[in-house]
Formats: sequence, C-alpha cells, structure tokens
Amino acid sequence: MGVTVGVKQRRVVFLASSNRGKVRELVALAQAEGFTLEPVPGYERLPRFPESEPSFALNALEKALHYSRRAEGLVVADDSGIVLEALGGGPGAQSARYAGPRSTDADNNRKLLEELRGLPEDKRAARYVCVLALAQRGHLLALFSDSCAGRILEAPRGAGGFGYDPLFFFPPLGKTMAELDVAEKNLHSHRGKAFRKLLAYLRDSRPVARDP
Ligand code: IMP
Repeated sequence: MGVTVGVKQRRVVFLASSNRGKVRELVALAQAEGFTLEPVPGYERLPRFPESEPSFALNALEKALHYSRRAEGLVVADDSGIVLEALGGGPGAQSARYAGPRSTDADNNRKLLEELRGLPEDKRAARYVCVLALAQRGHLLALFSDSCAGRILEAPRGAGGFGYDPLFFFPPLGKTMAELDVAEKNLHSHRGKAFRKLLAYLRDSRPVARDP
C-alpha cells in the first residue's frame, strides 16, 4: 500500500474517540502491552466525523481515515455496539443513539429493557461487536474486529464500565460487564480482543530502515 510504520511510531498510537469508557479501556490495555495511546492532537477542535455509516466496519474505517488526514502518525478508530437477534440485529451501529440522537447510556438501557420486556432468557442473547481501523495519512493499514457473547438481564447490575454494561451478563464469569474491573473486562471483551490483535500487528510490522 506504500505506507510504512516506523520503529518509534509503532509504539505511539493516536485514538480518535472522546468516549470516556472506550478511552479508559484502550489506554489501560495499551499501557499493559507497552504502547502509548494518546488522543489525536487537537481532537476536540477538528471537524467531527458524523458516524452515519450503516455498519461498524464502515464507521470505523471512515472515522480512522478522517482523523488520520488531520494528524501525523498512526490513528486508531473504534466503532462498536451491541447486536441482538431479538431486535433483528439492532441496535448495531446505532447503539450509541438507540433511544434518540442525544440519548444517554441510561436512556438506551431503559429502551433496551422495554423492547425486551417479557422475553424469556433464551431470547435475550446479545453480542458486543468491536471494529478497530488503523490508518495513517489517509490510508487504511488494517481492520481488526472481535465480539463477545452474553445476554441481557431484566435489571441492571454493577457500577463499572459504560453503555450497556450493567445489563450485559457474561455467563463465563457469572457477572455483568459492569461488575468487572477494567483489566478483567479487557480480557474478555470485544474491544480488548480486537485491540490485542491490533497491537500484535504493530509489534510484528516491519520497521523502515530510516527510523532509529
Ligand atoms: P460508537 O461511538 O458509535 O462506537 O458507539 C458505541 C456505543 O455502543 C456506546 O455508546 C455504547 O452504547 C455501546 N458500546 C460499545 N462498546 C460497549 C461496551 O464495551 N460496553 C457497553 N456498551 C458498549
């Protein structure tokens, strides 16, 4: 593709996100793996990417390209959300705006509980999906994705995490995602698994000769 990743650059990645939950999780994971994740310089002043694409992959891809044209270095963008068969695959890429354009996590959780009211446990299966796009100077380097299976409870549990975490029960641990600390959630989550793939890619990518 004609884009090379240098030795120093591979250890510093700029994140195109202002979602505090995502930032907290990704920064912790990068740090644990010996990388530095910083906000895209001047992120709040840059033109916003509208996230109006119909899929996680397109949103992540376009978001990474958008910010990488405005920053020097590697830029990663995350598009993620929750998918339920009971809702025909929704809310999917609309997860952040499920209850409306300016909805809060509490609004979205309330709507999810309403939509699923009366459904038995076996119809409450849910999947978190995360797509990460890595770009540099307007070129896509790679896409990474992963998912995490669980089910939606009838009432929230736990005070950690963000978004749908208090409702998202993770059977292997017998807890909701909001009952896990950041390191535990990162071990099992869609985002943690996808981001470890991205870090492995950066670790394995060949440095260019001119870099120290
Ligand atoms: P995005 O900024 O369009 O990617 O929106 C992601 C939305 O999906 C968030 O606002 C949450 O509602 C939901 N979401 C994504 N990942 C998680 C997670 O790890 N826990 C809970 N909710 C999540």
